[in-house]
Amino acid sequence: MHHTAEKGVYVLAMQLQRPARLTVGHLGVFDFPRGYYLYVGSALGGFAGRINRHLKRKKKMRWHIDYLLEKADLLWIDLYGTDSHADECRLNASVACLPGAAVIAPHFGASDCKCDSHLHYFEELPPERPRL
Ligand SMILES: [Zn+2]
Repeated sequence: MHHTAEKGVYVLAMQLQRPARLTVGHLGVFDFPRGYYLYVGSALGGFAGRINRHLKRKKKMRWHIDYLLEKADLLWIDLYGTDSHADECRLNASVACLPGAAVIAPHFGASDCKCDSHLHYFEELPPERPRL
């Protein structure tokens, strides 16, 4: 993790060891295949609090990602310093363009924007990191 900035947007990588049928809040029930997931989020209020929250196992479910992180293992988080909320969806578009990306749960983490989803599934973890 590079702490070159205090706030911005981020990519969180997860591995799901076994397929899981999960209820994602009001979004619905989805069958998540085993494999890798990249999630794009923003932490314009500060990285520290948001990352600590993602790492916490027991918490009140609030965001879509909270439901997936109950079952998936967090692999890494890449931080991209910015003040702009628009960079979250720009970074998301970059992740969606990585080879093999697929959407399992439409609108996941993307309730307030026009992206298909802020969660992207990969059978194999992409070797390259997305660029903002
Ligand atoms: Zn978006």
